[in-house]
Amino acid sequence: MEKMPVLFIGHGSPMNAIEDNAITQQWKILGKAIPRPKAILSISAHWYTGASYVQDVQQPKQIYDMYGFPAQLYEIKYHVPGSPRLSRLAQELLGSTVSVNNSWGIDHGTWSVLVHLYPACDIPVVQLSINGNLTPKEYFAMGEALQPLRNEGILILGSGNIVHNLSMIDWDNAGGFLWADAFDKWVQDCIVEKDMDQLFQYAKQPHAWQSVPTSEHIDPLFYCLGAVENTQYDLRIINDFRVLGSMSMTSYLFTDKE
Ligand code: ZN
Repeated sequence: MEKMPVLFIGHGSPMNAIEDNAITQQWKILGKAIPRPKAILSISAHWYTGASYVQDVQQPKQIYDMYGFPAQLYEIKYHVPGSPRLSRLAQELLGSTVSVNNSWGIDHGTWSVLVHLYPACDIPVVQLSINGNLTPKEYFAMGEALQPLRNEGILILGSGNIVHNLSMIDWDNAGGFLWADAFDKWVQDCIVEKDMDQLFQYAKQPHAWQSVPTSEHIDPLFYCLGAVENTQYDLRIINDFRVLGSMSMTSYLFTDKE
């Protein structure tokens, strides 16, 4: 079986779930372009916890973990099956660093994207939480440990945003602040050049304090990069732009070359 790609999506506003725009059109194309996964392991910025947790229920609940949006958004149904098998595989690969926890559900970091990629809701989804105590390098190592899932038809999906600063959102800005553009570009250069040692130390970059005031939205990227480490891949960069000044939509698809 061919190795499944790995996907990092900049998810942006939850409103993307119900909008037909340049961003979501790309997501729809992606859903058709990549091989159909047997199941999806989603690492969402919105399940940020004090340890690493994985879900293992047959039918996870969808959760509406965002506030103050139009009623229409809370009516979106994305009821996917879970996959106890995928959960078990992930636990085998991650060992004692992860435990089962079903208190969360399928959050908007996952469903606002998947509603466009796989609108039929027929691909099982398991979420893996982000342990907020770990470093980028440790997220990367977890991604490396999860690599064998790619041979089992599993899509590893990281859902976050490389630049994500809600307190600096500028509703009148269709693009990005200069610092947001610069930081996003710097991250992209590190990815293209496969310079992980630089990237692990992104916090030292001059614009990091504005771009990544808290790390939960960039963290999923490191799992994705670990999941393709030491493999030959084609890199596709999608939605390479910033919106509302302080949010980047830049997304990365890593497709196996072998
Ligand atoms: Zn988010």
